[in-house]
Amino acid sequence: MRPQLTTHHRKPRSIGGKSEPRNLSRLAGNKHSAWHLLFQNWTAEAIAEEINRLYLDPDYEFIAIRKEEAWSSTESRTATFAGSSSSRMTSRS
Ligand SMILES: [Zn+2]
Repeated sequence: MRPQLTTHHRKPRSIGGKSEPRNLSRLAGNKHSAWHLLFQNWTAEAIAEEINRLYLDPDYEFIAIRKEEAWSSTESRTATFAGSSSSRMTSRS
């Protein structure tokens, strides 16, 4: 028997999340309950902080970053990566 699916607001309504497709996901009821048991209706930043504090491998860090900020930092990371990649190629030759 398939679990009953429920609708989850990825950004909670209580902090301004809208009932629009990009903010909704369908979750099995038990997973949905587990999520809210762990993280209630917290912000992405608060969830990341809790994951780092209690759950994640301590050698890693889970980061919540707004997508607009992620895009600008990805560009600089790509530039750095391209730089290190070309220097690696240089050292091989
Ligand atoms: Zn939910």
